[in-house]
Amino acid sequence: MNKLFITHEDLKTFVEALKKTCDEFIGPSRQHLNDIAFGDVKNDGEILLNYDGNTILSPRTFLLPQTETLFEIKGSIGGKVSSIEDKKSRIFYGVRPCDTLALSLMRRFFLEGIVDRPYQDKMENATFITLACAKPCSERSFCREIGSGPVAKKGFDIQLVAINRGYLVESGSKKGGAILRKYKKLFIVSTPSDIKESKRILKDFAKEAKPINYKRLAGIMRDDLVKESVWDDIGLRCVICSGCITVCPTCSCFSVTDRMNGTSGVRVRYCDGCPYAGFTRMAGGAMPKPDHKDHIRRFFEHKLNVDVERYGVPSCVGCGRCIETCPGNISIRKFIDDAMASVKK
Ligand code: SF4
Ligand code: SF4
Repeated sequence: MNKLFITHEDLKTFVEALKKTCDEFIGPSRQHLNDIAFGDVKNDGEILLNYDGNTILSPRTFLLPQTETLFEIKGSIGGKVSSIEDKKSRIFYGVRPCDTLALSLMRRFFLEGIVDRPYQDKMENATFITLACAKPCSERSFCREIGSGPVAKKGFDIQLVAINRGYLVESGSKKGGAILRKYKKLFIVSTPSDIKESKRILKDFAKEAKPINYKRLAGIMRDDLVKESVWDDIGLRCVICSGCITVCPTCSCFSVTDRMNGTSGVRVRYCDGCPYAGFTRMAGGAMPKPDHKDHIRRFFEHKLNVDVERYGVPSCVGCGRCIETCPGNISIRKFIDDAMASVKK
């Protein structure tokens, strides 16, 4: 790893310079009720260059927005369909390692095999600057146990690790390397004591974390060995508010609808997801899984079982957001323990 170093002052200069190179500079700032949220701070808004905790929502909201117009339709037979392209260049600053891993998983979903053009356009024009964590962002996060923090291993263009006198800097892609070369006057080579300090911070963060055996967990779920009472409890608690699927950095499900006015209109895609009864309703109204508990079960099965089979890793990155937001006090972390402990005999 080629570790560079940048001072606090030079990081400000670096960020200001980068803002001039993109259409939108998406960074964390303090918002309503002191929450930290990503927003476009290119022209206004006070960016947090370093911060404790995590943002309310991940960068997913910019790459897979809640609603997005895909194309315009004009005329019926022989009419014209024109795609709506989003080619804005965006730099994301201060993305946490868990969300960086989530981006890698989303890339696989949207860009491997059948390529999703709208997602591809946005990703091709995006740069990700990750900010490693110095301490857990909340009591609910379990990144250390699931292996997504405190530093990102991949999926970033540039990664910063905060230490006392500034930041260690590494590039994770050709794009990141080119940016660091362009602004090389702002960076110096880190010293052995810088590296030692960063290792100590990261080690302190990760100590006492017991890795989750997610392959064993996936096996238990695949073999349908989780006690029915665990699923029943989840089904009773879920009030279908959709908070979990809204905040999750790896939820990728969507539906499309045409909004027409006569023979003109638009096709819109919107985020959809497991808790909704209508999500898997079939033509003719058939419901393969009519019970509500099965809808939220699908959320857990997808992340902890299906994706382990498909990608070799879970698509829960342990950010804890769904636990934080759930009014029914449902915890995917608790579910993991319950599932491991309550295997049917
Ligand atoms: S946040 Fe909780 S209550 Fe809301 S849909 Fe998700 S599991 Fe159900
Ligand atoms: S399932 Fe929950 S804890 Fe896991 S990545 Fe999604 S929001 Fe974070």
